[in-house]
Amino acid sequence: MHPLRRVPAGLKTSVPCERCGEPTMQTRLVEVEGKRLCIPCAESLRG
Ligand SMILES: [Zn+2]
Repeated sequence: MHPLRRVPAGLKTSVPCERCGEPTMQTRLVEVEGKRLCIPCAESLRG
């Protein structure tokens, strides 16, 4: 069972970062304080 892998390979889901709006692959999103952020935003928030 792979409930998170319903998307065919090559059609990866992009989710907009909740801070800057940059479309980011779901596998690269980082959840910070309940928000899904791209890596640069997550790092800047963490200081
Ligand atoms: Zn961002």
